[in-house]
Amino acid sequence: MILVSSCLAGLQIRNNGTHSLNNTIKELVEANKAVTICPELLGGFSTPREPAEIIGGEGDDVLAGKGRVIDRSGNDVSDLYIKGAYATLEKAKEINAEIVVLKENSPSCGSSTIYNGEFAGKKIVGNGVTSALLKRNGIQVISEEEFSEGTPFRKERLCMQVKTIAESTFE
Ligand code: SF4
Repeated sequence: MILVSSCLAGLQIRNNGTHSLNNTIKELVEANKAVTICPELLGGFSTPREPAEIIGGEGDDVLAGKGRVIDRSGNDVSDLYIKGAYATLEKAKEINAEIVVLKENSPSCGSSTIYNGEFAGKKIVGNGVTSALLKRNGIQVISEEEFSEGTPFRKERLCMQVKTIAESTFE
């Protein structure tokens, strides 16, 4: 089973009420090969919500109490992000997820890059809070960019694993 960001399956639950549809992921969900999850909704947020970014590092730093997640109004929302990360970890264990595909750049779901905390559209290398926690627990996380065909497979082995699952779905 694959765990995927809900917004990638087309659910309009991003902070501004939009989605980040990836058609293959949506088809996997419809074929019951993937389960959707949104760490921010699990943490207690609703849609729409204020955008937030990590300051003082990346997801691992937030989990360690060194970095913080701050919304655009300046509120510290770290606790909700951490709560959502642990709820996602629980779900991944519950469904025995072989791999997790999460939306890149999000302060929760980013697994290669996140925004740098300046709300200026600048990215840095790093994990969101949920991706950091999943990786700490030995769970394989990739982004939709790595998942999609046509992009360079930085983690080729993991992507082949997902492709095998996808192909068995669509045969
Ligand atoms: Fe999508 Fe993750 Fe943001 Fe939820 S927290 S809207 S799943 S990127």
